[in-house]
Amino acid sequence: MSANENVITHIRDLLGPKGWIGAEDGPAIAPYLREERGLYIGSALGVARPSSADEAAHVVEICAEAGIAVTAQGGNTGLVGGGVPFSGEHPAIVLSSDRLTRIRSIDAANRTITVEAGVILADVQKAAAEAGLLFPLSLGAEGSCRIGGNLSTNAGGVHVLRYGNARDLVLGLEVVLADGRVWDGLRGLRKDNTGYDLKQLFIGAEGTLGIITAATLKLYPRPTVVETALAALPGITEAMELFGRIAEAAGGAVNAYEVMNRFAVDIACRHVEGVRDPFAETHPQYALIELAGQTDGLRETLERVLAQAIDDGVAVDAVIAENIAQGEAFWAIREAIPEAQKREGGSIKHDVSVPLSLVAPFIDKATQALEAVLPGIRPCAFGHAGDGNIHFNISQPQGMDKDAYLEHWQDFNARVHDIVMEMGGSFSAEHGIGRLKRGDMYRYKSDVEIDLMRALKRALDPDGIMNPGKIFQ
Ligand code: ZN
Repeated sequence: MSANENVITHIRDLLGPKGWIGAEDGPAIAPYLREERGLYIGSALGVARPSSADEAAHVVEICAEAGIAVTAQGGNTGLVGGGVPFSGEHPAIVLSSDRLTRIRSIDAANRTITVEAGVILADVQKAAAEAGLLFPLSLGAEGSCRIGGNLSTNAGGVHVLRYGNARDLVLGLEVVLADGRVWDGLRGLRKDNTGYDLKQLFIGAEGTLGIITAATLKLYPRPTVVETALAALPGITEAMELFGRIAEAAGGAVNAYEVMNRFAVDIACRHVEGVRDPFAETHPQYALIELAGQTDGLRETLERVLAQAIDDGVAVDAVIAENIAQGEAFWAIREAIPEAQKREGGSIKHDVSVPLSLVAPFIDKATQALEAVLPGIRPCAFGHAGDGNIHFNISQPQGMDKDAYLEHWQDFNARVHDIVMEMGGSFSAEHGIGRLKRGDMYRYKSDVEIDLMRALKRALDPDGIMNPGKIFQ
């Protein structure tokens, strides 16, 4: 028996028949090896599916001894190839969290929930709701992404402006380290000022320092009043002005502030069934606004700010949802954009952030820069403008060959990211580095910053077996 076969036998004995999918299992293993959009197809000896943190630790220990790499994977919905295994110098296995699905406890009085890494995000939200509380992390893939992946990638989504990124929602973690030991840091404390905040090292580390197996998460009071509005605006400058006005008037009640340019709304309505534009006329820019809280008066605030904005020429028109269904119909426009973009042909994507004060100048400057290279490009600029994160995706000129268009990917990325970095922004606001953005990381981060990251990597994973080929080259 070869060394690898030995390891496989050992893991299979440990986890039982449900706990191992081998390379010979063909169709069963394929989804674990493929990045969602088909950008990467990885390879692995197999997929380990432990059902407890202890089992996960054992698997890592076995792999560490044999020099086999371990790529942790949650729902495999990431957009930068971080969860797909690559055997570089080490053969690799996938360690899937899809059987680590227990909700261990809810402490309603402490407003915390402790869940295993494989719990689907929507199920965390549901469990919180059943306890009369809110888990605010919310994003497009919430029906299939898993909380361990959300934390490992420090997921963002639509409520970051109010509740922060995934990082801000964690009080404690349980982590399997590279040598197979378990760090039990599952504390539910809002104050714990006792040395290095180790949990933050593993959040956003994409499984390169250790594997998150469980987390204690913050819950919040559940808003009883939600008001949703769609505003039509002359441009992105006015959309950011309106955000400032709403944030000032509504204070902490702004739950989401998403922008969409006309092209984004147009393709969403054209390509995705049931999505419709509530305005009779077309407008250059739209903002989707959600206020939520425990007190009445939010609707009046929204009405007053929008009426004043229309008077001042900041907005052209606005509709406030009369009921939940209408609010959902506004959100449906926003949520349809990624799918609509796929149907509109090739799209070159950027997930960037800049300071709020520079969102409008960024979009203008980047649009002009790309227009100069390839006239006819169609920017689909949308996203979380309330926290400065824009999905600046560029659809191909009409009639152009898709493959010929996608050859511009690297060049467009470099031009857009150069502008972003000049403005003090980020070339990856919420999707992470994974495999896709390693080049950008080396291009834009200082030597000092890369050195610090490498020092951490060496300290926590000296043999380089935790998700190799991700973040670092
Ligand atoms: Zn997003």
